Amino acid sequence: MTLYRPRRLRTTQAVRDLVSETAIMPSRLIMPHFVREGSAVREAIETMPGIERVCLDNLLRDVEADLALGIRSLLLFGIPDEKDEAGSGAWNANGIVQRAVTAIKKRFPEICVITDVCLCEYTSHGHCGVAHEGTVLNDPTLELLAKTALSHAVAGADMVAPSDMMDGRVTAIRDVLDGGGCSDTAIMAYAAKYASAFYGPFRDAAGSTPQYGDRKSYQMDCRNAREAEREVMLDLDEGADIVMVKPALSYLDVIYRVKAISPVPVCAYNVSGEYAMVKAAARLGMGDERRLILEILTSIFRAGADMVISYHTRELLKNKWLQELMA
Ligand SMILES: [Zn+2]
Repeated sequence: MTLYRPRRLRTTQAVRDLVSETAIMPSRLIMPHFVREGSAVREAIETMPGIERVCLDNLLRDVEADLALGIRSLLLFGIPDEKDEAGSGAWNANGIVQRAVTAIKKRFPEICVITDVCLCEYTSHGHCGVAHEGTVLNDPTLELLAKTALSHAVAGADMVAPSDMMDGRVTAIRDVLDGGGCSDTAIMAYAAKYASAFYGPFRDAAGSTPQYGDRKSYQMDCRNAREAEREVMLDLDEGADIVMVKPALSYLDVIYRVKAISPVPVCAYNVSGEYAMVKAAARLGMGDERRLILEILTSIFRAGADMVISYHTRELLKNKWLQELMA
């Protein structure tokens, strides 16, 4: 038998491109944004170079510039000025996220606006639900999450993305959305969200570090992958339109498993700590930033993600790095 030579299909860039199995498409990338109250606000986030907290006017400027680059989907996080025990700012019809959604959809109706639905940015204790004597109560939290989701949908969000990991939240949100005349608003569920050290920079950005304890009683244990399949099945039963795995890079096997069982699109979140590691390596001269980013994002898509939320989205398109993929 003659030797089969796989190297024949690696000879030139054109041949490599021709046989490539994975592509990063701009239409499948989602850019996250942090919006806060105030005017002329543009605050750098130290642990996430290139990412900023901005006021509504600057958000609209950024969204417009992003749209010109081809970025059509975004994920919005709100940073309220005030927090309280219940996190009541989360469902305020006049809150910063709700106003931002309405303003974006009014000026750029073609953009897909996804909102993060959680309480941790709004609670004084920084947990994702109703806290009582050191524990986070599941069922009392559902009503508050559903109210929050409805306020985003009424403001015009295309999709709401619950990130809290309470049991039963997708059903609770679907019921309230449907009852509130928002049956066309999709639910992107953070279905398999792990308690992860890779969220550190985000908590700086959003000011959502828990004031006591951790989130291990509701977010998943990083040792478990079969349990992720169970979480996904539950969210699908409850009516999730898209399921998400978060983080992405240390959970490529989970993305692969979820893709194999999910009849709905799979999203992966290339989180703040993954972004910060690349930035730190580049700053220290320990890696080629462009190639690191392309390889990481390619691996997430190759694992099975249909779409990826990434802080790299803007720089990728601005620097035209996709055009030189793997060159
Ligand atoms: Zn949360």
